[in-house]
Amino acid sequence: MAAASVKVAVRVRPFNSREIGKESKCIIQMTGNTTTILNPKQPKENKSFNFDYSYWSHTTPEDINYASQLQVYKDIGEEMLLHAFEGYNVCIFAYGQTGAGKSYTMMGRQEQDQQGIIPLLCEDLFTKINDCNNDNSMSYSVEVSYMEIYCERVRDLLNPKNKGNLRVREHPLMGPYVEDLSKLAVTSYNDIQDLMDSGNKARTVAATNMNETSSRSHAVFNIIFTQKKHDTETDNTSEKVSKISLVDLAGSERADSTGAKGTRLKEGANINKSLTTLGKVISALAEIKVESFIPYRDSVLTWLLRENLGGNSRTAMVAALSPADINYDETLSTLRYADRAK
Ligand code: ADP
Repeated sequence: MAAASVKVAVRVRPFNSREIGKESKCIIQMTGNTTTILNPKQPKENKSFNFDYSYWSHTTPEDINYASQLQVYKDIGEEMLLHAFEGYNVCIFAYGQTGAGKSYTMMGRQEQDQQGIIPLLCEDLFTKINDCNNDNSMSYSVEVSYMEIYCERVRDLLNPKNKGNLRVREHPLMGPYVEDLSKLAVTSYNDIQDLMDSGNKARTVAATNMNETSSRSHAVFNIIFTQKKHDTETDNTSEKVSKISLVDLAGSERADSTGAKGTRLKEGANINKSLTTLGKVISALAEIKVESFIPYRDSVLTWLLRENLGGNSRTAMVAALSPADINYDETLSTLRYADRAK
């Protein structure tokens, strides 16, 4: 039996220049954990949803729902990191329309205080390992992999020469994995930062009518964290391995709303399939279904995340929202997706 509850946060970004140019109105309100969306065509109609966290961005930091990058990390990233120290597999993913703030939340920007969950978590991981270093019975190792899933194909972002379509296989004990995916040992935050930078450069970016630089692929950053404990009395060593998967999902907008044709339409169908399957997997986990009924196999994304979503794992999701009336339909569908994940 599987039982999992997903921590769900929603985060609204500030207006972008396009929305300001169109004099868009803000249709999102947040009070405590409740997020309300107003229907711009029917001003009296609004819908409210409760989440673990509702994060506001575009007013002053004194606003009670305002959340800095560090706050989001403390609430979500650090909790998941502590679960990894306890030996759980963990997964954090960002969902939402292109341009809504997924990459900002997961990766962030290079400037001070603008780093997102992935760099802050990696930094904190090494800080916590160093804090434990006076315990001689413990030793730690960290390996990372970084891949992109595009149209159900897997590409290695840490070895861009490997252009191809890596094979997804299943290990009898360890579960699904990607054959020949680079897994690199790292000993400091700087090591990870360098790998992340080159991986991000290698990431496929395909333009859509919505946003010229948005990605139509899922980016999955994995940290394999091994803790070894040596018992000097018995001379036994025990090992705990946790996989931390940090996922920046492809934009959730429907292909038709972005004027897609041909390849773009096929991309859209594949993206929708993996996002729909991810939604189904998460709802199935929340409903305590028998593991064999959970449709992990229906997409490469969910299949590869199987060990991070079900059973012995902890999951968190950040749904990124635009504040603007012009994005009402997409924002409402993101809120519904997030609501189903709880
Ligand atoms: P996505 O990954 O969903 O396509 P991005 O993360 O690239 O969207 O966000 C689009 C733009 O909005 C970027 O310039 C980003 O820096 C900015 N942005 C997103 N979320 C926030 C936020 N919470 N605070 C400030 N700027 C943000």
